[in-house]
Amino acid sequence: MTRYMRRLADRDLALDRAMIPLGSCTMKLNATAEMLPISWPEFSEIHPFAPSDQAKGYKRLIDDLSDKLCKITGYDAISMQPNSGAQGEYAGLLAIRAYHLSRGDAQRTICLIPSSAHGTNPASAQMCGMEVVVVGVSPNGDVDVSDLKAKTEQYGDRLAAVMITYPSTHGVFEETVREICQIVHGHGGQVYLDGANLNALVGVARPGDIGSDVSHLNLHKTFCIPHGGGGPGMGPIGVKEHLIPFLPGHPETDGREFTVSAAPYGSASILPISWSYCLLMGGRGLTQATRIAILNANYIAKRLSTAYPILYSGRNGRVAHECIVDCRPLTKATGVSVDDIAKRLIDCGFHPPTMSWPVAGTLMIEPTESENKAEIDRFCDAMLAIREEARAIEDGRADRDNNCLKNAPHTVEDLIGPWERPYSREVACFPTGAFRVDKYWPPINRVDNAFGDRNLVCGCPPVDDYRL
Ligand SMILES: *Cc1c(COP(=O)(O)O)cnc(C)c1O
Repeated sequence: MTRYMRRLADRDLALDRAMIPLGSCTMKLNATAEMLPISWPEFSEIHPFAPSDQAKGYKRLIDDLSDKLCKITGYDAISMQPNSGAQGEYAGLLAIRAYHLSRGDAQRTICLIPSSAHGTNPASAQMCGMEVVVVGVSPNGDVDVSDLKAKTEQYGDRLAAVMITYPSTHGVFEETVREICQIVHGHGGQVYLDGANLNALVGVARPGDIGSDVSHLNLHKTFCIPHGGGGPGMGPIGVKEHLIPFLPGHPETDGREFTVSAAPYGSASILPISWSYCLLMGGRGLTQATRIAILNANYIAKRLSTAYPILYSGRNGRVAHECIVDCRPLTKATGVSVDDIAKRLIDCGFHPPTMSWPVAGTLMIEPTESENKAEIDRFCDAMLAIREEARAIEDGRADRDNNCLKNAPHTVEDLIGPWERPYSREVACFPTGAFRVDKYWPPINRVDNAFGDRNLVCGCPPVDDYRL
């Protein structure tokens, strides 16, 4: 079993080997010291509905972590029930809905969401029975405030909420965020601030001070719970005082009927990770992490801007904790797509960044504070070398369809098997950034993404093979 798991781990390209610059996902170091305690039976073997006198330690931990998250966000209370960011959105919007109902405002069902929002935002609003109205985005990527104003006026007392993301999904600190909160409040609406990008705020600014009423925090992003492969996560919500009566609870524990998850504290067993992270870092450490995360992203944006346009930046030409690299001009000139760059990065020993989100044809890069300068430079060197490989196509020195970008990634089979490509095996397998001794070898060549997703092939051995 151990050998089987080791083999799978060797095929994987995880954070224990290289940076995972997935924009919007905040893939940061999950320190072993933070992870160990969740395997202790005291944390892992208790039932979610154990009598409260048997779960006093958990209560202390949850209360203390909630207290710390309130201080970090500027909110008055935290609900630890939601298991993901999306579930937090759902819980937060249900709280907003219940708040309006309690005031006799049953007609407030309109939810304004900018077109730049994460897909979970409109999905959650829809699930809460709200009607989604999309707000436009200006050419510079910011929420179009005049469109927002017009829509708040148009919908008036039917306005339930706005969902905004700060810093935005474009990786920029929008300067109109306070104004947006004021406009929406002026029409009796509530502000849901998507807190998935809190890694750019902790210790520096607080959603509660900006004017927001409720946010979810992705503990599996900002607060170190590992989330490669899809979970488990925690998406607690913070709320201002007036929304506290509408937080989810559980009939078994606090008599509240409104629940969003089967257990009163969601996936409580992974909370020790976030709690130890806060304790190990301390307040000053958390603030320093934010600063380094922003510095790292800006360093990458600056270095890459000589080869790729950075799609959005703020007034001072800076980004927040991530940046969107525009590959569309390159694609137009050379035929090299974001997929080709992503696959080539695998040859270089990197997990590719987020592709075509939130803008098609771009790459979204988020280094986080976990990466040191050497690793960030290795990544930038690889990206700049890829630009030069594309230039060879532009200049006619390389074939448009048969080149090291279109054929990436390259495997050991390519290294030792027959070879008739117009570039060397050295170029194929050891591009800039790739280690010679600790080289990451992808187990397979490129699989056509869309075709592979739509045409499942069962690779299991036939049942007959198991007959003794
Ligand atoms: C990740 C993310 C979400 C959703 O969080 P999940 O935990 O994946 O459900 C929502 N909004 C933004 C901006 C995100 O980056």
